[in-house]
Amino acid sequence: MNRLLNNNKLKEFYMQMYNFNSGPSILPEYVLRKAAEAITDFKKTGLSILEIGHRTTAFIDTLQEARQLAKELMQLGPDYEVLYLQGGATTQFMQVPMNLLGASDTAAYCDNGIWGTKAIKEAEIWGNVNVVSSTKDKNYSYIEKVFAIPDAVNYLHITTNNTVEGTQWHTIPGTGQTPLVADMSSDIFSRPLDFSRFSLMYAGAQKNAGAAGTTLVIVNKNILGRINRNIPPIMDYRKHIEADSLLNTAPVFAVYVSYLTLKWIKEEGGLEEMWKRTKQRAELMYAALDSLDIFTPIAAKEDRSLMNVTFTIENKNWEDEFLELCKEHGMIGVKGYRTVGGLRVSLYNAMPVSSVVKFTELMSMFNDRKKKAN
Ligand SMILES: *Cc1c(COP(=O)(O)O)cnc(C)c1O
Repeated sequence: MNRLLNNNKLKEFYMQMYNFNSGPSILPEYVLRKAAEAITDFKKTGLSILEIGHRTTAFIDTLQEARQLAKELMQLGPDYEVLYLQGGATTQFMQVPMNLLGASDTAAYCDNGIWGTKAIKEAEIWGNVNVVSSTKDKNYSYIEKVFAIPDAVNYLHITTNNTVEGTQWHTIPGTGQTPLVADMSSDIFSRPLDFSRFSLMYAGAQKNAGAAGTTLVIVNKNILGRINRNIPPIMDYRKHIEADSLLNTAPVFAVYVSYLTLKWIKEEGGLEEMWKRTKQRAELMYAALDSLDIFTPIAAKEDRSLMNVTFTIENKNWEDEFLELCKEHGMIGVKGYRTVGGLRVSLYNAMPVSSVVKFTELMSMFNDRKKKAN
């Protein structure tokens, strides 16, 4: 009999999975359950979330609540606007300079990983870029934290967490009067920060803030309208703000999933609680990596990401064997990105601490097996 035909079996099948994917990635069970309900009946409208109009009260309420929740979790004041846009974080690589960087102006960028490098390439299309720090020399395995910001740059851009390389800014750099712009795609809502130090933050929802299909942009509106460029309305943050983030058809379902995710974060205890769990998960992982002979973390110790943990195995030939073992135990998404190699596990908000314990037990078992055999 097909196991997928049997509901209980189906549940068992899914419950055994440990999703370490980097994005789209694990979501809280609460979110999946509520999203599933909305597929058949959204807020008792009798309509599916997939067929409901984006200008219905039912949806507008959800969108506005989600925007409000994001601000509340980040403790941001009235200068900030939350937008749910489309095109992924990748579109922000273009949209940020389009709105903030005049053709003859200069922006400062930190080059700490492949995503930051992409952001730099796109900014160069719209104005001048001054790369104030780069860690390309060591394949982006660390973060250069000491650098000077030239006067008269329109903004400084950083990637708070390097998803691919497994490094993270643990202290947000001071920028004085220079507006700070950050790609927070893979660590947004994982820790409390003084978010008012950022002038613009963006994040694809599919890592720590929902499902694929929408991108959060959180912007201090005072930095907009300072440059002289004809911006197509759909690319103009001011137009989206004027329209309360409903300039055109919103990605209705993706916004709803993000709303549910933010609601879950709030109900679990907000960013303080997320931060507690973030630290627990990362401590477990790095303790295992530091103590087991055959595993070695890739990132420099002081810059280790608490979200995406990258590591290698002593003998490269053992990688496939370990990945196979992971698969047998329902642990997926463990393979590293091709530019970095090795292995990577992503430990986003929805990842239970107990799943990380299970993973480190598997590492330990594999380590013992290899030590005995050699
Ligand atoms: C995943 C990721 C991106 C790309 O996001 P898309 O939504 O696929 O465009 C950009 N920056 C960082 C830090 C990421 O982790």
